[in-house]
Amino acid sequence: MKTEPFWTDEFARPDDLPVASELPTSVDVAIVGSGYTGLNAARVLAKSGLSVSVFERNTIGWGASSRNGGMATPGLKLDISKIYKNYRAELGKEFWQASVNAIDLLDTIINEEHIDCDWQRKGHCSLAFKQSHFDEMEEYADWLDKEFGHKKSLILKSELQSEIGTDAFYGGLSDETSGGLQPAKYVFGLANAVAKLGVLLYENSPVNTIQKTPRGFQVSTSNGTVQANEVIVATNGYTDLLVPELRPRVFPVGSYIIVTEPLTEDLQNKLSPKSRMFYDSKVFINYFRLTPDGRMLWGGRNNLSTDLDLIDSAKRLQKQMVSVFPELKDVSITHSWTGRLGVTFDLMPHIGRINGIHYVNGYSGHGLSIATYLGAELGLMLLGEKDRSPFEEINTKMMPLYRNKTWFLPLAEKYHRFLDWVS
Ligand SMILES: Cc1cc2nc3c(=O)[nH]c(=O)nc-3n(C[C@H](O)[C@H](O)[C@H](O)COP(=O)(O)OP(=O)(O)OC[C@H]3O[C@@H](n4cnc5c(N)ncnc54)[C@H](O)[C@@H]3O)c2cc1C
Repeated sequence: MKTEPFWTDEFARPDDLPVASELPTSVDVAIVGSGYTGLNAARVLAKSGLSVSVFERNTIGWGASSRNGGMATPGLKLDISKIYKNYRAELGKEFWQASVNAIDLLDTIINEEHIDCDWQRKGHCSLAFKQSHFDEMEEYADWLDKEFGHKKSLILKSELQSEIGTDAFYGGLSDETSGGLQPAKYVFGLANAVAKLGVLLYENSPVNTIQKTPRGFQVSTSNGTVQANEVIVATNGYTDLLVPELRPRVFPVGSYIIVTEPLTEDLQNKLSPKSRMFYDSKVFINYFRLTPDGRMLWGGRNNLSTDLDLIDSAKRLQKQMVSVFPELKDVSITHSWTGRLGVTFDLMPHIGRINGIHYVNGYSGHGLSIATYLGAELGLMLLGEKDRSPFEEINTKMMPLYRNKTWFLPLAEKYHRFLDWVS
């Protein structure tokens, strides 16, 4: 079993990805981080003729953007009905609409840039782990329809075999809006597209300091220094102390994935007849899908740590997978890996500014399409083509005494386990 992401093992960073080496003296915008957020901001800015440099600590797309499940689904991490309760209804509507528009934007970018990333919109099905969760799904579907006219189909337990080959769940809710892709192909394709627009991409170039100057910012990287009019920090779950005030706003949580060897076509059709993206209704969620080449991908976490042993994690995930799909008991696991989610204390993404430095982060594990969207949105705001975003209009929650060390995670873990038990 390999302890590296299946996606980059299947599709490695292309050798001909155009990366730069010499630093310019100055740029309009310097971007820290080369995932979906940073690259989509770069795309929008470069299309308007601005000079943009993207600095990546590792190789292009190294972070969550080449490690995720590849599932683009509407909504945000926090349930939209809770978002409604926490914020004004008008804002709630905007958040929901942004999440739906985000999937359409992803679709548009993939088509416009001709990114071959196995993108298919075959919908998703969320699965009730308990009868009480199914009852809530029924109410939720009615509410979504009334509030936004968004249609989801309620699937009774007796009909669930049309969606998934297991009787482990109490029913489900399917949604045709969603889609799936190969994350590494998307991020490398996007990097290639922005490089063609003139964006300079720097690998193995951690940004070490950002200093305010009379003309903007001096951005110091391991390769040298560049003067930038504006700086965007797009480091999400890999946010370090580069901007010390940013780290307490977004904390890293580990998410873990395994994939099996390719399944026979018969088994693929039995387990996932519609090739849906799936996730269950637990707090410690499992998300799963077939990969484009017909493997079962199974993701989740048993605790919130970022450094679980990948062999142990594979055993735990395999056990969960086999409890849902007993047919996979003797199927080999070929890859086990992890990546970091950037989680906020209100589970909401945020756009903001600290000492003049722009940031966008906090997708909390639901970031494939919304990171794409918010990267682009921040780009449009810098260009003056958008004058506001609902994601900059909500307060950021902070945890007292948290600066860098996530001391509260073991407590949060216990609380989540308790919720899974009682709910
Ligand atoms: C295992 C896993 C499964 C997931 N599954 C899904 C899913 O199925 N659907 C979904 O919607 N979302 C999913 N997500 C979330 C999604 O992948 C992320 O929200 C999204 O990729 C975030 O993109 P980003 O560009 O903001 O951050 P990232 O892609 O994490 O990029 C941040 C980059 O910043 C770089 N960096 C950090 N500090 C510096 C520095 N000082 N200098 C230079 N570079 C720096 C890092 O090296 C990193 O490459 C998953 C995440 C993980 C980890």
